[in-house]
Amino acid sequence: MKLLEGKVAIITGASKGIGKGIALAFAQHGANVAFTYLSSVEQGLALTAELEALGIKAKGYRSDASDAQQAEELINAVVEDFGRIDCVVNNAGITKDGLLMRMSEDDFNKVIRVNLNSVFNMTKSVQRILLKQRSGSIVNISSVVGVKGNAGQANYAASKAGIIGFTKSVALELGSRNIRCNAVAPGFIETEMTAILDEKTVQGWRDAIPLRRGGQAADVANACVFLASDMSSYISGQVLNVDGGMLT
Ligand code: NAP
Repeated sequence: MKLLEGKVAIITGASKGIGKGIALAFAQHGANVAFTYLSSVEQGLALTAELEALGIKAKGYRSDASDAQQAEELINAVVEDFGRIDCVVNNAGITKDGLLMRMSEDDFNKVIRVNLNSVFNMTKSVQRILLKQRSGSIVNISSVVGVKGNAGQANYAASKAGIIGFTKSVALELGSRNIRCNAVAPGFIETEMTAILDEKTVQGWRDAIPLRRGGQAADVANACVFLASDMSSYISGQVLNVDGGMLT
């Protein structure tokens, strides 16, 4: 069963990792996919071809999600190209880890700007389109680290916790217009980034997870498909942990 047939979705930061997994899952479920990237131009082009091969309309846009003006221009371009927007997945994110003692103001601000301001920028720009349509689903990618904190990631945790507060507030503000807003909080997800880590360390992380494995991009993507689809039409303001049971 295709859950997103005929819907138009925007996914930020889809050139690789979890965002790419979300774009592919949305296309497999029949959605037309607009996605963004920032520096990975070649991967963006390759993904467009991969998505189109699934028989849907796809287009990649080079757009910095942390820049309000670019977010506004992106939304206008997607409406121009696709005619409507049904779902936004705010996935773009970065880390700049370090203990507080060594964390510079710049590293704090950069992470907040890319991870949290980006969610504000995209949601603010898309809301007038969703309000006009009187429907829409916004899915914000948070993290278990935003729920419980993590030593060495104060900036990242603050940005991801901020996303949760923002998500719940938007759900309250826009619910009466049939616009839903939820967050997904992934645990340890194995991507290209984690593939380069020491195998023994990674195995230690896997062993500490109740389901005894790291998550795959597809695990997060499936949760996003559900939250973007009409299957979740009475779910808003929630945080869905996709973490193999890590937070119980
Ligand atoms: P990733 O592999 O590093 O991919 C990040 C994506 O975001 C890339 O496509 C990157 O595009 C894009 N991006 C970065 N800055 C951007 C900006 N300013 N504007 C637009 N796009 C930007 O990361 P990931 O592991 O897939 O993570 C995806 C999301 O899941 C992030 O929000 C992350 O915090 C969250 N998350 C990940 C995990 C995990 O275990 N992996 C766990 C919990 C939450 P370019 O390459 O073109 O710059």
